[in-house]
Amino acid sequence: MSRKEKKMSLTTKVLLGMLLGIVVGLAINLAGLNGEGSWVNVYIVNGLFHIVGAMFVTALKMLVVPLVFFSLISGVIGIGDIRELGKVGVKSFLLYILTTAIAIAVALGIAASFGIGSGVEMSSDLSFSAKAAPPLSSVLIDIVPGNVVNAFATGKMLQIIFFSILVGISILMVGKKAKPIVELVEISNEIMMRMVNIIMAVAPYAVFALLGKAIANLGLNLLTDLAGYVAVLTGTLLFHLFVTLMIILKLFSGKSPSTFLKKMKEVQVFAFSISSSNATIPVTLRVVTDRLGVHNSIGSFTIPFGATINMDGTAIMQGVATVFIANAYGVDLGIGGYLTVILMSVLASIGTAGVPGVGLIMLSMVFTQVGLPVEGIGLVLGVDRLMDMIRTAVNVSGDAAVSVIVAKSEKKLDEATYDDPEAGIAEEEDLEIDEEAEHELAETVEEIHEEILEEVRKHKKK
Ligand code: ASP
Repeated sequence: MSRKEKKMSLTTKVLLGMLLGIVVGLAINLAGLNGEGSWVNVYIVNGLFHIVGAMFVTALKMLVVPLVFFSLISGVIGIGDIRELGKVGVKSFLLYILTTAIAIAVALGIAASFGIGSGVEMSSDLSFSAKAAPPLSSVLIDIVPGNVVNAFATGKMLQIIFFSILVGISILMVGKKAKPIVELVEISNEIMMRMVNIIMAVAPYAVFALLGKAIANLGLNLLTDLAGYVAVLTGTLLFHLFVTLMIILKLFSGKSPSTFLKKMKEVQVFAFSISSSNATIPVTLRVVTDRLGVHNSIGSFTIPFGATINMDGTAIMQGVATVFIANAYGVDLGIGGYLTVILMSVLASIGTAGVPGVGLIMLSMVFTQVGLPVEGIGLVLGVDRLMDMIRTAVNVSGDAAVSVIVAKSEKKLDEATYDDPEAGIAEEEDLEIDEEAEHELAETVEEIHEEILEEVRKHKKK
């Protein structure tokens, strides 16, 4: 097999898994095989597909916290200068806010010009009960972890970021004495990246199972009921991904949008399959650093930060849904209302984590603010699972684009890696164990054992 063929295999396999999953899921759904209690439903869709998919997503989640912790500390140490760190923080924050605000403004404009939602029949059994969204003050206070173990255990990303940065800075302050800890962190970071490779090896099968299950359960006919909403939303999401974000990328970094899109395909497929920017962090981080050439000192911060505060796709959904539901209820929001929607959506995206379905909670927050009926969300609830998949893919693309821009402006972008179409492609060799290194490691462990035993013997003689 040629090197190129071999290199292409994992990404291609993942894409194939995605397509096959959609086809098989659709076939099961259309053939009506997925009825309650049928063997296909019990053993295949909610059996095999569910188990394989859930194990994979859980494995990715397992990686997120330790990966962010070690890579971020290593990133802070890598930057070295605390002022630089502040610059990276401010730049990425502003870019995230800017892209989200543009996303929602464009979405409101497009949705309003299509006039979607007017004349939609409202069923009387609309029901959507909003979960409370956090107020800004508690979002800010909540950045500081009162209990680090709790922050890690519950995966509170902003708290983990805060703590990891503090640890990194403190290590820098300790200086030379902290060398063993620096080595420990660097090696742990490398170990975590290896773990990402191991989990990724089963990705094609997992993506197949995840999509097979989702599509078998959902089908596609519900899309036709809300065709206008779905078409405008999907169109705006794709517009943001392929036009707005790419213009911003080119303008601010000068780098090629087509290379970016090609390399991001893998990340987008994951985000699409699992509807969670947070659980996609390991994959995004790997692609952004290994394939797009963003230095770990930037990526380790911008990616988890972006997964939490940057949600362009989700903001677009909020814009389109707001217009749709306002029209359906015959409410005229006016310019003031639209501006409030933009502001609230941006704020809401900062305070909520990138997990499946969180967009709806944010939407209820926006609705309460502009005085739209929250139960109106029930109108778009049916298609939200599918829309969540597409908008999550847009969310993670925004995170990566901002990372490239910040890295470029900080001179921390390896342009040769970015431009090389083959750089960092996951290969099967990544999973092989280097026998020589393994042998060396075994010898070292043996030596350490010997030393300890020697110490014990000496101690006993005394
Ligand atoms: N699922 C999205 C994400 O994780 C958030 C949402 O729109 O519901 O990025």
